[in-house]
Amino acid sequence: MVDGTPGGHQELLRQQTALAQFGEMALMSDDLDEILTEACRLAGEALGTDLAKVVELQLDGKTLLVRAGVGWKPGVVGVATIMAADDTSEGHALRTGEPMISPDITTETRFRYPAFLTDNGVKAVANVIIIGRQGKPPFGILQIDSREAREFSANDTAFLRSYANILAATVDRFRVIDEVRQEERRLPEALEVQVADRTGALGKSNAQLDAFAYTISHDLRAPLRAMEGFARILLDDFGDQLGTKGERFANRIVLAAERMEKLINDLLAYSRLQRYDAKLRVVDPTPLALKSADEARAEQGSKVTIEISATLPPVLAEPVVLGQVLSNLVSNAAKFRKPEEHGQVRISASREGDRVRLWVEDNGIGIAPEHQAGIFNVFERLHGEETYPGTGIGLAIVKKGAECMGGSSGVESTLGVGSRFWVELASAANTAEWVERQEKSSA
Ligand code: ADP
Repeated sequence: MVDGTPGGHQELLRQQTALAQFGEMALMSDDLDEILTEACRLAGEALGTDLAKVVELQLDGKTLLVRAGVGWKPGVVGVATIMAADDTSEGHALRTGEPMISPDITTETRFRYPAFLTDNGVKAVANVIIIGRQGKPPFGILQIDSREAREFSANDTAFLRSYANILAATVDRFRVIDEVRQEERRLPEALEVQVADRTGALGKSNAQLDAFAYTISHDLRAPLRAMEGFARILLDDFGDQLGTKGERFANRIVLAAERMEKLINDLLAYSRLQRYDAKLRVVDPTPLALKSADEARAEQGSKVTIEISATLPPVLAEPVVLGQVLSNLVSNAAKFRKPEEHGQVRISASREGDRVRLWVEDNGIGIAPEHQAGIFNVFERLHGEETYPGTGIGLAIVKKGAECMGGSSGVESTLGVGSRFWVELASAANTAEWVERQEKSSA
């Protein structure tokens, strides 16, 4: 109880201020050591001592380590330990949960005190337990030490208890955060193992699938050629015996076989890329672009105009693969025209730092945003074979081919307006090989 004197009121005010200050700081800070040290400073100040410490109970349940403190000589905070034995005030406080006061440790008969206290000139000690969460051991003890022998009033003890309870709640907050972090750490780690397992399994089944696609497409070619060959023989040598109906059927066999051959060739090209170890070198994209344009014109005739920008810079690539990539992009650009409009295709380049983007642009039917990523997958087509023929493998070849060469691919498109497909590769403009080639050609 407060004794009612002006001094008593002042003391209470000081203690209440300390509690409020500490409560505020305990909520704001996220550094437990800083909080514990500040707790010692404020509590010592409120009780008029310049020494205080927090001792933390270790995992063995009996050693207390001086975790934080103020006013101590070096070699105490973070170093000194106290055994919570029966004949120590700390042991008693932990066992009973009651505050333990020794007004003068030199005349104390109940407990023995560690040597570092007397080394630091401590005469009186008040110990208050910092409890743990339900079912958990206490965190430790808040200890107020005085260099003068002194009593601690009931008021002081009540203050220390409230103070230690705020400390307990604070420490608990840190323990919960710590537990959550540990749990989080355990869960990613577990996730990483799972991901690694799955990636391994996926890699294996992908490799099997590649091998399967390769064999199937390879082995299917011979019987397919036989079917097509025999259908042609039927038409050429036995045409008059077939009749119109028979001839129509034989023609359909030839067409179906041709389509299947195209599909198999595309599949083969794609599965070869899966296992391809591209040897990159300096490649001038212009001749490859010209060849792709010629092929597309041969397919689409006069319905399309293909223009190639004069300055396609050299890139680091594999010529066969880059040829496949450009040829698929240009053939698509020429093919996916709006039926009523003349097709305009433009092949150009832009620089992105040390990378080059080759662009294939058209004024065709365009692609809705929700389909722009999917079309790079094998067999993803947005139209029926009757409207726009194709195998659905071209863009998968573009994607895989660009990746094989250390590059990437993508599209910008507006439905009904047109598309701009791009492949991005390393620029070769500054490589020694290209510079040498330039020098030779200008000599
Ligand atoms: P294919 O051309 O054989 O159908 P691709 O893999 O090359 O297969 O293309 C997949 C799909 O992406 C096409 O079926 C088409 O729907 C769409 N597409 C590709 N290029 C274009 C383009 N330039 N303009 C509009 N749609 C396109």
